[in-house]
Amino acid sequence: MEPGNRARVEAWLRYGSDLGLGPYYRDRIVPETAVMAAPGAAVESLDQPSQAMAAAAGQTDAGSTLAFSQPPASPAASVSSRSAPAGSLAQEPSLFEASDRIEGDTLDLIRETIGDCTRCKLHKGRTNIVFGVGSMKAQLVFVGEGPGRDEDIKGEPFVGRAGKLLTQMIEAMGLRREDVYICNVVKCRPPENRLPEKDEITTCSPFLFRQIDVIRPKVICCLGSCASQTLLQTTQGISRFRGEWFDFRGSKLIATYHPAYLLRNPNAKGEVWKDLQKVMAVLGLQPKRK
Ligand code: SF4
Repeated sequence: MEPGNRARVEAWLRYGSDLGLGPYYRDRIVPETAVMAAPGAAVESLDQPSQAMAAAAGQTDAGSTLAFSQPPASPAASVSSRSAPAGSLAQEPSLFEASDRIEGDTLDLIRETIGDCTRCKLHKGRTNIVFGVGSMKAQLVFVGEGPGRDEDIKGEPFVGRAGKLLTQMIEAMGLRREDVYICNVVKCRPPENRLPEKDEITTCSPFLFRQIDVIRPKVICCLGSCASQTLLQTTQGISRFRGEWFDFRGSKLIATYHPAYLLRNPNAKGEVWKDLQKVMAVLGLQPKRK
């Protein structure tokens, strides 16, 4: 389907969904049961983080980003019993999903299709299109919301302060940055680092879906509200479903806080580390040793 047509169809489906007429396709809706089954316990209050995890993640160093380079020596991390068990995740692609995949698609082809894009108003303020970086065979894809100033200048996602923290998080998981794939919902920098607007997300997100379809990662880790709300097609706040597992086009999806949020709220690092441990358990990773 043409990206423009797809965006229009998605906008109508989303409109219908907002009116309560959906869901039209199961994998883009945060199951109410899953979210509602994620009681306060599923997400520890940010005001009362786990003291043990806070200590383990080095939160006492409020301004430091070193916490992730010194992960706690955890036992083999296991998927939390609070999470939806893997077996309950949908295994079959939905009709929408199956028809949506582009046969023979590649990252190069997607980049070529984007071209010198002017499809949405974000093109006016950008220096570079920030497509994505990393391994096309990555088992883990991180999705953020959009490029910031440093990313816009360099044309690479997550290279500023938040990017450095993300790199530390990746390394704490026993991986290198080049082992994963990193991209954003929108490819051009929103002015003043504001959140991408709905029309911009609707226009640009088909490229993200194609990237995910090409890579077919085992796990997608959404960083922050924008990415998780876009992929899960929900308006619910991330704290309602952070740390829970969902299915997205054949991959397992988990949402956690954005590294930029952690720079402002270092007390949340322990929560994020717990989420990353769940990802590590699925991928069979051991934390990096000092
Ligand atoms: S944000 Fe996406 S759709 Fe908008 S101009 Fe940039 S590449 Fe095109």
